[in-house]
Amino acid sequence: MNDLSHQAFLAPASTTTEIPFYQPVSNECVLFEFAYQRQLPLLIKGPTGCGKTRFVAHMAAKLARPLITVACHDDLTAADLVGRHLIGDGETIWSDGPLTRAVRQGGICYLDEIVEARKDTTVVLHPLTDDRRILPIERTGEELTAPDEFMLVVSYNPGYQNLLKNLKPSTRQRFLAIQFDYPNAELEQSILMTETGIDLALATRLVDIARRFRQLKQHDLDEAASTRLLVYAANLIAAGCPIVDACAAALVEPLSDDLDTIAALMEVIKLHF
Ligand code: ADP
Repeated sequence: MNDLSHQAFLAPASTTTEIPFYQPVSNECVLFEFAYQRQLPLLIKGPTGCGKTRFVAHMAAKLARPLITVACHDDLTAADLVGRHLIGDGETIWSDGPLTRAVRQGGICYLDEIVEARKDTTVVLHPLTDDRRILPIERTGEELTAPDEFMLVVSYNPGYQNLLKNLKPSTRQRFLAIQFDYPNAELEQSILMTETGIDLALATRLVDIARRFRQLKQHDLDEAASTRLLVYAANLIAAGCPIVDACAAALVEPLSDDLDTIAALMEVIKLHF
């Protein structure tokens, strides 16, 4: 590292920007710091709404690095990441894409739902993820060497059972990987209370509902109730929304379109409130 000693590195970075709240669930913060310190790219696996994005935002702020986030989708091209020539005022100017910007700034580039991106797009990441740490920009002939502070973080949700959408082994084996899941009940209650200001009694009941819904996953539900949806429910209730209405809108309707399933989930809600 050029400017961070190991000691300074493990201490909280002094920064004036606020560090987003993140409740650690395991050793993920320490692992992230080691990966950053050793310039290793990181893959975060886990279901939607379990805290992956918040974790990366928290770590970027803690390490005082700019965070550049890209939500990947199936139309995402290599040029969307690297950059392209734009025509304006009769001249052609080069415009850096988010990946190039992150490399130039020594930032943390977070590619959310990387499996959504086309396979040929992920190939541009390869020379950045091995010890060369370079980004060749074919269209300008430039070759950027990533500064020590640059870090590549990608995430995906292995729960989507789509064989076509899987990371190629040659891509995934370039990353350290951490498995995320929903936090345990106690931590999830504390997240709800910190995020929304609700009290422990309400947080306990909401988390209990989510845990029951999660047990139904694979039987009736494709996706379980996420921590994100719990935060939505808690936020509605904190704003004065009647509890059952809040749970219906935040915890039931987003999970299913099937009327029988919705009725069964509402029964669980009514048992709790
Ligand atoms: P993901 O990126 O996994 O889809 P997010 O990081 O966007 O999920 O998490 C959704 C919301 O859940 C966050 O905005 C935050 O309110 C809450 N959340 C989930 N896990 C945590 C955590 N460990 N600490 C703090 N907030 C969390």
